[in-house]
Amino acid sequence: MKKTGIRILSNINYLAPLLLLLFLLTTSASSQTGPVSYTVTLDKQPTSHMVHISLTVNSGEASSVDVAMPSWSPGAYNIHNAWRNVQEFSASDDLGATLKFEKVDKQTWRINRQQGRMITARYKLYLRDYTDQMCYLRGPSVFMYVVGRKPYPLGGPIKVKLEAPSSWRAQTGMEQGSEPNSFVAEDFDTFIDSSIVLGPDWEQTQFEYQGVPYFIVFLGKGNYDKAKITNDTKVYVSYLVDMMGGAPYKKYVFFLRARAGSGSGGLEHLNSTDITFPAWTAHSSWQIYKQFLFVGAHEFFHLWNVKRIRPAILGPFDYSHEQNTRNLYVSEGMTSYWAAIGLKRSGLWSRKDYFENVANQISILQAAPGRKIMSVELSSWNTWNRSDNAANNSIDYYNKGELIGIMLDLEIRYRTGNQRTLNEVFNYLQKNHGLRSRDLKKCEVSEMPSS
Ligand SMILES: [Zn+2]
Repeated sequence: MKKTGIRILSNINYLAPLLLLLFLLTTSASSQTGPVSYTVTLDKQPTSHMVHISLTVNSGEASSVDVAMPSWSPGAYNIHNAWRNVQEFSASDDLGATLKFEKVDKQTWRINRQQGRMITARYKLYLRDYTDQMCYLRGPSVFMYVVGRKPYPLGGPIKVKLEAPSSWRAQTGMEQGSEPNSFVAEDFDTFIDSSIVLGPDWEQTQFEYQGVPYFIVFLGKGNYDKAKITNDTKVYVSYLVDMMGGAPYKKYVFFLRARAGSGSGGLEHLNSTDITFPAWTAHSSWQIYKQFLFVGAHEFFHLWNVKRIRPAILGPFDYSHEQNTRNLYVSEGMTSYWAAIGLKRSGLWSRKDYFENVANQISILQAAPGRKIMSVELSSWNTWNRSDNAANNSIDYYNKGELIGIMLDLEIRYRTGNQRTLNEVFNYLQKNHGLRSRDLKKCEVSEMPSS
């Protein structure tokens, strides 16, 4: 910190107006928190792919309110620029006035308040995932947030109401609200972390473990075996829940989206996961199905590792720009370690399957030229903006992180005569440092901005 400004500020003639300005900046708005309430209305013409969204907030005495689209999705470490699909933005208040607004950066709209306190922002969103078959809302690409203490979203609870044809049903990891087709979340982070599916004919299976309901929502046609997928999911869910000492949620939803091709992928959430899997070849070979199980177990284990045990910078989330961390090799790589271990120990993978996976991971690392010039920490940090030369100078932190997980577990076992394991480290982290509801509520970003 430079000291050159102290001499100037020591002059009371300068200090008094500065203190007054600081006072006004911090108190001109009354300290309001949410709730913020959202309404999602599906356009009558699904082929337009238009979803109508409104959000209402009490602005208190603030002269203006900023609303912004998240620039990234937690779990997907890239800038997605979803703001570009927003159109026909408008704002009004509870006294019926149409409010003026301006964009102040690529993803932020500033609404000027008049007499009314309750401000409603409205926009249309072009969403390819809204068709005549289904509407798949994945929060960070859909919902603007009210900017609170910058750069964070306004604190407080969220309500969302879905307006869709009466024959359409909804599923989400969020808790049910007081009205039909309404849901509630304790804050914006939890709200946009919960994907929502709406549609007339999606199918769902269900099982229960330790009194907690699990739903598997199948999206899209295919020749996959829903009963087998459900049974196998229950097997690894049961093992991992036992391993981590219980389920820290009231409900969990697997959204399985059938797609062409043979690969599987996913994105983790607190109480749900979005997974894509092969519509027509899921059971055509053990290798394809084995990988699908691995993706499911990996995304499921994330509910602990990265969603509740996470680098400090990953929540409360700053959605305005990249959030670099050196720890993705733990958050991703060790999640892969526990996924593979969970599949082996629960009996879904054989011993041979497990060691084939380890051998494959070692081969991948040894074949990566970047392993000699880049650490997993730097690879984690750089993931937002990978080099054009990444194939030659980078390493995969999923891959090396999984191998580090193996080595760490073996080292702990070696040093303690097999009395301690890496599992205990994760149990300790979850118990003593894991995200709990009250941590979400205590965040110090819950005041409306002064402006
Ligand atoms: Zn992951």
